[in-house]
Amino acid sequence: MVAHRTTLARFLIEQRSHHPGASGELNAVILDVALVCKAISKRIAYGALGGVLGAEPTTNVQGETQQKLDVLANEVFLKVNERSGLLAGMVSEELDDPHPIPPQYPRGKYLLVFDPLDGSSNIDVNVSVGSIFSVLRAPEPGRDAVAADFLQPGSRQVCAGYAIYGPSTVLVLSVGTGVHAFTLDPELGEFLLTRRDLAIPETASEFAINASNRRFWEPPVRRYVDECLAGRSGPRGKDYNMRWVASAVAELHRILTRGGVFLYPRDTKDPARAGRLRLLYEASPIAFLVEQAGGRAGTGRHRILDVLPEGLHQRIPLVFGARDEVERIEQMYAGDPDAHSRPPLFGNRGLFRAGT
Ligand code: MN
Ligand code: MN
Repeated sequence: MVAHRTTLARFLIEQRSHHPGASGELNAVILDVALVCKAISKRIAYGALGGVLGAEPTTNVQGETQQKLDVLANEVFLKVNERSGLLAGMVSEELDDPHPIPPQYPRGKYLLVFDPLDGSSNIDVNVSVGSIFSVLRAPEPGRDAVAADFLQPGSRQVCAGYAIYGPSTVLVLSVGTGVHAFTLDPELGEFLLTRRDLAIPETASEFAINASNRRFWEPPVRRYVDECLAGRSGPRGKDYNMRWVASAVAELHRILTRGGVFLYPRDTKDPARAGRLRLLYEASPIAFLVEQAGGRAGTGRHRILDVLPEGLHQRIPLVFGARDEVERIEQMYAGDPDAHSRPPLFGNRGLFRAGT
């Protein structure tokens, strides 16, 4: 019944009433993103009937093959948001450079960063995919954003969220006051609040990692996973289950719903890459949501939200989920003599700059 449900718009108005100075523009950005997610959800639901499955002949800035839906979802994000007057620029996984706001529309005070379709290789096998987004303040509202404007640590996000297109479409977001989930009513076309204040249990008995990379893992990760695999007879004294969906959004949604820990650690497979997931539009919003839900997110060595990005498409190792599990992994890194003798993450400059 819709009568006792809270719509996304009503929820956002409620939230805003706690911040008397707020102009309501952030709410408008979020509602635009929700509209985009509804449009993408609808296209995905038609599957092969909509002619949207399969790959494009193109590759994106990461050198990855673009699926038709990657391109389509990106277009919807850009077209809906560029005309609102609320944004100074956008950054997408699918674009080399920031997307400028066309000259005929006003520039606003926010920046929107997104992975329009996460896990897109899952599309052809009809497994959940999603969209991830993050909202930052433009350093100088009203002018066109440049790439450097987006290089802000994740702790400065004013909103982070995702939509998961699964058996149902669910929008999960945080504006810094907990994490809340809204399920799309396909008939009404409305996101309705279905879970308030999601919380990740501190302990876990499920872990998610791509075990085919085992031979490339660093010793602390190998040790952590070995302890889990040893189960009841090992140092953890209990049995663990393993999960792997190969879609960051789906892993995040599972962990926000029933707990667990996820690892895509740094490995030695391709030394040029510091990790697999992208900092700005994957790790950063994920870390914001995870911390808002009482969990922890880091590289194994550092908190994700403290990292100052050096590039729009920078990759980073990511470990997130149950606080106790992530702390245990961090302790293993801290106690690993090899981890200290190696150079810092990004060469001589190190991971952090002063003042972050
Ligand atoms: Mn992705
Ligand atoms: Mn993507």
